[in-house]
Amino acid sequence: MNSIVEEILNSLPEEAKTGEICYEASDIVVYTKSYDFLLNCGELIRQLVNRFKKRIEVRASRELLSDENEAENKIRELAPKEAEITEIYFEPEFSKVIIHAKRPGIVIGKNGGIARKILETTCWTPEIKRSCEIESEIVKAIRRMLHAQASERKKFLHELGKKIYSESKEVEYIRVSCLGGFREVGRSCVLVKTPNSHVMLDCGIAVAGSRPFPYLEMEDFVLQKLDAVVISHAHLDHVGLLPYLYEYGYRGPCYMTEPTRDLMALLCMDYINVCQREHKEAPYSIKGIEKAIKYSVALKYGEVTDITCDVRLTLENAGHMLGSSVVHLNIGNGTYNLLYTGDIKYGVTRLFSPASTDFTRVEGVIIESTYGSSEDVQPRRSEAEANLIAHIKRVIARGGKVLIPSFAAERGQEVVAILTSTDIQAPIYLDGMLWDATAIHTAYPEFFSRTMQKLMLKMGKNPFLDPRLKAIGSAKEREDVITEARPSIIVATSGMLNGGPVLEYLEKLGGDERNALIFVGYQGEGTLGRRVQKGWKHVTVNNKTIEIKLEVITVEGLSGHSPQRELINYIAHLRTKPKKVIVNHGEPKKCVELARTIHRVLGIETVAPKNLETVRLK
Ligand code: ZN
Repeated sequence: MNSIVEEILNSLPEEAKTGEICYEASDIVVYTKSYDFLLNCGELIRQLVNRFKKRIEVRASRELLSDENEAENKIRELAPKEAEITEIYFEPEFSKVIIHAKRPGIVIGKNGGIARKILETTCWTPEIKRSCEIESEIVKAIRRMLHAQASERKKFLHELGKKIYSESKEVEYIRVSCLGGFREVGRSCVLVKTPNSHVMLDCGIAVAGSRPFPYLEMEDFVLQKLDAVVISHAHLDHVGLLPYLYEYGYRGPCYMTEPTRDLMALLCMDYINVCQREHKEAPYSIKGIEKAIKYSVALKYGEVTDITCDVRLTLENAGHMLGSSVVHLNIGNGTYNLLYTGDIKYGVTRLFSPASTDFTRVEGVIIESTYGSSEDVQPRRSEAEANLIAHIKRVIARGGKVLIPSFAAERGQEVVAILTSTDIQAPIYLDGMLWDATAIHTAYPEFFSRTMQKLMLKMGKNPFLDPRLKAIGSAKEREDVITEARPSIIVATSGMLNGGPVLEYLEKLGGDERNALIFVGYQGEGTLGRRVQKGWKHVTVNNKTIEIKLEVITVEGLSGHSPQRELINYIAHLRTKPKKVIVNHGEPKKCVELARTIHRVLGIETVAPKNLETVRLK
């Protein structure tokens, strides 16, 4: 055991009757055999947390825990019916009971009263989570996977803690290796190296493009030496290859928010399905996804966590999609602070607050440049929304159907939030994964902007529970939507028309000029989406050439990415002026232009490296 654990042990009184003391990643958990200590250790633990600046928790040793059936009855008795408990899982390895409820606040009780009673009567430490308001089999499966692996997770988290608290050498250098997503959009992957640790930021896949993988063969990258992976958000170009690392033997942690974990599992499962449908070999199987879930460590926004012996991580809101984060690394105990933006929106949207700039210190920034050119001006949000609504009303009035391609998570839910705030009287169909992703949105209201949180928690106002929304799951249902006479709005994947059910709709609705296709998100170079957007009249869809007769509309200004002005403001609004800015995640011209502009406007040294280059930060 490392010295910190010994010091904590020495600070505990005799009557604490300490059983095990374990790491849970960077947290320290003391298991006590004393009922009195379990209930009355609060003040002492607060003092220890202050002294050691680590999260320390006390839980009951196994012998104190009441029988699971008994405990479950007790919990159901204590929690009022209105709480609507949906599932209860026991994790004896952690002496924890995980309670999923539709109204978690009611299970917690006033000032934590009911949660406290659960602990007093059963000795199980309750962890209370919000269940999805919308039923989703996939979400249930993800949660089951997580609980089924508790004993292995306990071992893994303990070993991880040992490594985190091991001795470190002086941080003599910090290097950033560009493995993917530099001067391009897709396969984002950055490796940060110090003399002590190797940390990977994102591990994406390029869905369209001749070379889908990041350069994992670059000699800088050695899988066996990788200490941690941090995932900024659940889009495939940032997380799509994570399961592959696990399938090829990586056994370290991947850090991300809870919604990113759920959406990651969902989108990677979908990716396997898409590969199968296209008769391509998927780079990994469901086993890789299961392992990624098993080795995931979920963080809340603002939670500061040691992830290696010299890197401390904080995730904050990125404003881009549910659970999306800007990644702050404090390296070498304040020696250097590196901020990786992932994809950001530094502006207000229906669903999220602008990306956070709230960091005490930032020396280096890696920033995206999807819309990094000065030509990428976007209209105001309110104008963009009015524009979208007007187009949809017009198409519906002429009896047409509106097809909106979207990623499973991001623009789809934003569009839902906009449309459900109007009086449009047409069904809004969410196809397949979009429905499951929307279900995940209902479980995490705390990740939305305050305005949206209020709406979601107010009865009857949650946009994701609007009666106009309908799930489409089967081929038969899809056929019905296509053939029914009434106008409707169909939101389907994929967002750039490079696969997914949207193609079936396009194939069958594309020949009717009453219908419309509305692009609301970025269309990557080389995708079918980009070709249709440019006005191609004959395109190949599902191996058939079809004539595009439907109206093709692009509504600008609804993107989850910031235009150049916002990207520059984002850096300008950081509390400290960075010394260096590295630009990535954009077409070559845009990376270079954003780098030049930041240098000119803010006087900061900038660089737009290519893949396979390495930048030394210290
Ligand atoms: Zn993204």
